[in-house]
Amino acid sequence: MAKYDYDIGILGGGAAGLTVSSGAAQFGAKTLLIEKEKELGGDCLHFGCVPSKTFIRTANVYHIIKSAEKYGLPRVDLKPVDYREVAKRIRAVIGVIQEYDSKERFCKLGARVEFGNASFIDEHTVRLNGKKYSAKSWVIATGSSPAIPPIEGINKTSYITNKEIFSLSNLPKSMIAIGGGPISSELAQAFNRLGTKVTVIELGDQILGVEDKDMADSLMNILISEGITFYLGSSVLGVRDLGNEKEVVIKNSRGDTLSLRAEIILVAAGRQANLKGLGIEDISLECDKKGLKVDGRLRTNHKHIFAAGDVTGAYQFTHAAGYEGGIVLSNAILHLPREVDYTNFPWCTYTDPELASIGMNEKRAAAAGIQYSVWTEEFKANDRSLAEGAEAGKIKLLLNENEKPIGIQILGPRAGELVSEWVAIMNGKVKLSTIASAVHPYPTLGEINKKVLGNFFSGKIFSEKVKKALKFFFNLKGRACM
Ligand SMILES: Cc1cc2nc3c(=O)[nH]c(=O)nc-3n(C[C@H](O)[C@H](O)[C@H](O)COP(=O)(O)OP(=O)(O)OC[C@H]3O[C@@H](n4cnc5c(N)ncnc54)[C@H](O)[C@@H]3O)c2cc1C
Repeated sequence: MAKYDYDIGILGGGAAGLTVSSGAAQFGAKTLLIEKEKELGGDCLHFGCVPSKTFIRTANVYHIIKSAEKYGLPRVDLKPVDYREVAKRIRAVIGVIQEYDSKERFCKLGARVEFGNASFIDEHTVRLNGKKYSAKSWVIATGSSPAIPPIEGINKTSYITNKEIFSLSNLPKSMIAIGGGPISSELAQAFNRLGTKVTVIELGDQILGVEDKDMADSLMNILISEGITFYLGSSVLGVRDLGNEKEVVIKNSRGDTLSLRAEIILVAAGRQANLKGLGIEDISLECDKKGLKVDGRLRTNHKHIFAAGDVTGAYQFTHAAGYEGGIVLSNAILHLPREVDYTNFPWCTYTDPELASIGMNEKRAAAAGIQYSVWTEEFKANDRSLAEGAEAGKIKLLLNENEKPIGIQILGPRAGELVSEWVAIMNGKVKLSTIASAVHPYPTLGEINKKVLGNFFSGKIFSEKVKKALKFFFNLKGRACM
């Protein structure tokens, strides 16, 4: 008789847990997936990527219609937004994807799905709805939740997070966002475009703290030009419920105390790992302040218990959760020791323009003591950007001492798509000269990837040395216009 009920048990039916479950079941492992909520899909499907990108699209369409005159069209006088209709569209998109992330589909793949709150009772066994389930290996993929900072008055004041924001019954007239990270920046712009007066409070001296300041500042200036107010270097001293309005008292960067008011407060001040109620203390699983501690193979201090996705606090993105799910599969099911490698990890903030990155930026290269050079190209020199009326932003390429790419940042239209060429270049270790000489279709935004390399190579190609050699061999006569 088998020692354990299952080959592998997974806690959490989000991006990481679903990747492991579908892979394990398809490899023939007896797989148990346990999800706390009533549906599979996790934060990305229900309160994160999917609703936010659907919402952003709606806001951008509204913004473009409002800007009709910019495109040589007659002005359009739009009715105010009915948020219930916006929320309905969000629910519809979620509904379509939900079918793919359904219990039935996972059952067809061969995984058993159970719903409820599971808790470890020993290193191989959890208790769920009064029953015990044991597995040879376990994967904790329980995700993260909004971190609520210990602000005075926060417990007595109603506020919203990404969990509530996509199902509001009306478009708020005004909103104060606490935190200036990616979630806040995306939502701030989208709400502002739909007609909400938005103010963002950020403790640091820039929004999007992990990005280079020049890129983040350029984006912030665009958001300011659209009407969003930012308080950088500002701390929230307290919040208060005034009935129809909420008060947020801040100390700004000059040390002045200001009282701000808005209809709603959005708390988007970081994330915390979902670890409560799992019984991890009872089996002595080690954590740090980011989440579950794991080694390169994503094993916790109990080598048969893995963790993947937001719960480790590493890169909190859906594609990171999927990638880590694959690493767990390799180690737990295929028994092929594989470690995570985030060297060429890409991400994107879906503001308009988008800000996408892969690998190192200047901040990180400097912190790692890496010598680098920076090469840029502006979107306003890209014909397609001009044609589309989306000429803000630039691409920034970092090369190391050996002139190999170590990172790219793109602030511009569809930057999230444009960065994919760099995913292939950097992972495939493609020579930069190959891309610089490869024909890209005209007119495309993607030409900017080739153009930035042109800027790097042009100094070498059109050098005095080359000119002298050509003059010597072919008797070229030099400038025709002074
Ligand atoms: C507003 C917003 C926008 C975002 N946009 C993007 C984006 O554009 N691109 C991107 O890559 N990422 C984005 N993210 C991040 C992305 O949503 C997360 O990184 C991703 O969902 C992490 O996947 P996960 O599997 O680790 O966790 P989750 O998807 O959250 O899944 C964890 C699951 O575990 C369940 N669970 C929790 N506790 C237990 C328990 N005790 N027992 C059983 N189950 C449990 C949860 O209910 C949940 O279903 C966004 C996040 C937010 C909040």
